[in-house]
Amino acid sequence: MTKVLVTGASGFIAKHILRELLAKDYEVRASIRSDRRKAEIEALFPEADIEFVTLDLSKDDGWQEAMTGVDVLMHTASPFPMALPKDPQDLIRPAVDGTLRALKAAKSAGVGRVIITSSCVAIYKDAAKPKMDPSDERNWTTADAPYVTAYEASKTLAEKAAWDVVADAPDIALTTINPGLVFGPAMDKHYGTSLNVIEQLMTGEMPMVPAINMVTVDVRDVARMHVDAIALEETKGERFVAASDALSFLELGQAIKEAVPDAKTPTRVAPDWLLRAMALVMQDLAAIVPNLGRNLLCSNSKAEKTFGMTFIPTRDAAVASAQSVREFTG
Ligand code: NDP
Repeated sequence: MTKVLVTGASGFIAKHILRELLAKDYEVRASIRSDRRKAEIEALFPEADIEFVTLDLSKDDGWQEAMTGVDVLMHTASPFPMALPKDPQDLIRPAVDGTLRALKAAKSAGVGRVIITSSCVAIYKDAAKPKMDPSDERNWTTADAPYVTAYEASKTLAEKAAWDVVADAPDIALTTINPGLVFGPAMDKHYGTSLNVIEQLMTGEMPMVPAINMVTVDVRDVARMHVDAIALEETKGERFVAASDALSFLELGQAIKEAVPDAKTPTRVAPDWLLRAMALVMQDLAAIVPNLGRNLLCSNSKAEKTFGMTFIPTRDAAVASAQSVREFTG
C-alpha cells in the first residue's frame, strides 16, 4: 500500500485531501502541530486507521522519523492568517523553513514523490509581466516587490525553496498545486481564512467590496488534484494552477444571498481611492490594497488538459462555503 504523509492535517484543505486519500485506499500518516487537534480529525474519519505525528514548521523535532516508510509527502502546512503580521518574517520564516525541513527530511529518507500546496499568489504578481495580463505557471511573483504582501512572499519563497532542493535531488519528483482562493464546503468548524472571507461577506462586516476579480477554486477540486497527481506521470516536475471561473466580490455576494437569503451581503463597490485611504488606519485592508488595479487571474488550461479537470463553478463553491459557514456558526 502507498503511504502518504500529509503535513498540516488539521487544515481546511488538508481534511479534504485526507478524505480523498482514504477513499482511494492510501495509507495515511497525518502531521499536526499539537495533539489537541487529533480528536477533531478522528471524528471526521471514525472508521479510518490514521497514524498521527507531531511536527512544527519551526522546529527540527520529529521530521526525520515522520518520513520513515513514507512513499509520498504531501506538504500542505503553512501559516495562512486572516490579518497580516507587522513583521513579514513571521510568515516567511515558518513557510520557507518548514518547506526546507520537509524536503530535506524527505530527501534523506528516500521519499521519491512530493506534492506541495503552493498558491496562485506565488504566480500572479510577476513584475516581468504587464500588470493587467493574466498569469500562468510560467510566471513567478516577484517576492520583494512593494505590492507583494508577506503572505504572498511566504508562498513564493517557500515554493522556490522546494524547487531549489529538488534541483539537487534527482530522485524526488515534485509537483506543486497552486490554488486560487479556496472556497467550497468545510468539513468542520475550523475552516480557516478563505471561508472567513465568505463569512465576512455574510455578516455585513463588509458593507462595500473592493473592485477585484479574485482567482478562486473549490476545495474538492484542490484535494482531487493533490491526490490524482500522485499517479499522473505528466505532473512530475510541474506546477499547476488550480482555478475556476472568476467572479467579482459583488457577484459572490449575490450568489450567496440567493442561497442564504438572510445573509447581509454587500451591494456596493468601494472606490479604490477610499480603500487606499482606509488602509492607512485599518490593518485588515493592507492585504487588499496592493491588489487594486491589477489582474490577479491565472489560467487553468494546463490543469484542465493534464488532470482532465472541469472545475466546479465558483458560484457553486461560494454557495457551498456559505452553507458551511451557516451550519458551523449558526
Ligand atoms: P489552514 O489555516 O486551515 O491550514 C493551515 C495548516 O498549516 C494547519 O494545519 C496549520 O496547523 C498548519 N500550520 C500553520 N503553521 C504551522 C506551523 N508553524 N507548524 C505546523 N503546522 C502549521 O489553511 P488552508 O487549509 O486554507 O491552507 C492549507 C495550505 O493551502 C497552505 O499552504 C496555504 O498557504 C495553501 N493555500 C490556501 C488557499 C486558501 O484559499 N485556503 C489558497 C492557496 C493556497 P494548525 O491547525 O495547528 O494551525
